[in-house]
Amino acid sequence: MGFATDAIHVGQEPDPATGAIIVPIYQTSTFVQEELGKHKGYEYARTSNPTRAALERNLARLEGGKFGLAFASGMAAINAMMSLFKPGDHVVAGHHLYGGTFRLFEHMLKGSGLSFSYVDTTDLDSLERAFQPNTRLTYIETPTNPVMEITDIAAAASLAHHHRALLAVDNTFMSPYFQRPLAFGADIVLHSTTKYLNGHSDGVGGAVIVSDGALAERLKFIQNAAGAVLGPMDSWLVLRGVKTLSVRMRQHNENGMAVAEFLARHPKVKNVHYPGLPTHPQHELAKKQMTGFGGMLSFETGSLENAKRLLKAVRLCSLAESLGGVETLISHPATMTHASVPPDDRRRLGITDGLVRISVGIEDVEDLIADLEHALAML
Ligand SMILES: *Cc1c(COP(=O)(O)O)cnc(C)c1O
Repeated sequence: MGFATDAIHVGQEPDPATGAIIVPIYQTSTFVQEELGKHKGYEYARTSNPTRAALERNLARLEGGKFGLAFASGMAAINAMMSLFKPGDHVVAGHHLYGGTFRLFEHMLKGSGLSFSYVDTTDLDSLERAFQPNTRLTYIETPTNPVMEITDIAAAASLAHHHRALLAVDNTFMSPYFQRPLAFGADIVLHSTTKYLNGHSDGVGGAVIVSDGALAERLKFIQNAAGAVLGPMDSWLVLRGVKTLSVRMRQHNENGMAVAEFLARHPKVKNVHYPGLPTHPQHELAKKQMTGFGGMLSFETGSLENAKRLLKAVRLCSLAESLGGVETLISHPATMTHASVPPDDRRRLGITDGLVRISVGIEDVEDLIADLEHALAML
């Protein structure tokens, strides 16, 4: 079946007991057993819950994987996945990681004996050079936040496998609608479902998707043992969100493209980072591994003063962190999402004081452009 059909139906057969078309919210902690060792597949809701199980099956299919696991947040998913590794293991990671992931790696996992190298994974030579005999994992985000750099997933997977390491891809920015890393050889896909998968800015959650049975078994053990599971109500919200993922992503893409083209033409905008623009340095690679470019972009206003003025002048775009919801959010990476990155590193990574990020929503795009046009006139 096609992606949209799978999004609406997989894991969501009508309830056999009542015929309910929608998977119920199984708000229960335990399940009664008929006799010792005889039950319906559910014993205790940390181990498994039918609403969560429906979401896990659904997300696995959408990513083209065999197994899905849902967690209490994107960070809980990443932390659970990282529990696959042991003290002494080395990880090669992208230099533009989501701030929370960098914090987890540097300020928690380093203390438990893992070591990390951060490299520009868009440059395959520098990625290759970063491998060590004890490297067990390559961890990337593509496109990166907020300057939308793209790593060749297939090339990164073959490098990782050549060095007997796994490749994990955080696919939050694209969603499986536009990019399916497992098809390019990745071993593990991660999501903050908080963003596009839920899509309505009303819940926090995360997921891990794999195809390898042994890896899935180990992750299932970690999920149950450490216990950072997604609750039934939140699982249900993501299931509900995912039903419209196809139509939402198509509109995010259409609006993203229109806003990017508007900004690229505007005399007060210095530079627009959007993989859908032919001027993006990796536009060709983007077309090769993505089927759309999504709704995330950033652009250069020239100075902190200009960025401040613009963010104060917008009316429809809301000044907030996060992304992937139906409403347009605008933010200032240098002082918001990347405030904890030292200024020198920020400059090196292209996160200038004048950089503004937009998560383009699915409002009428004429209204978004009018809002930005009015705000840019204040610079
Ligand atoms: C938001 C985000 C996360 C963390 O997810 P939470 O649900 O906030 O814990 C991880 N990676 C990326 C790319 C994100 O945007």
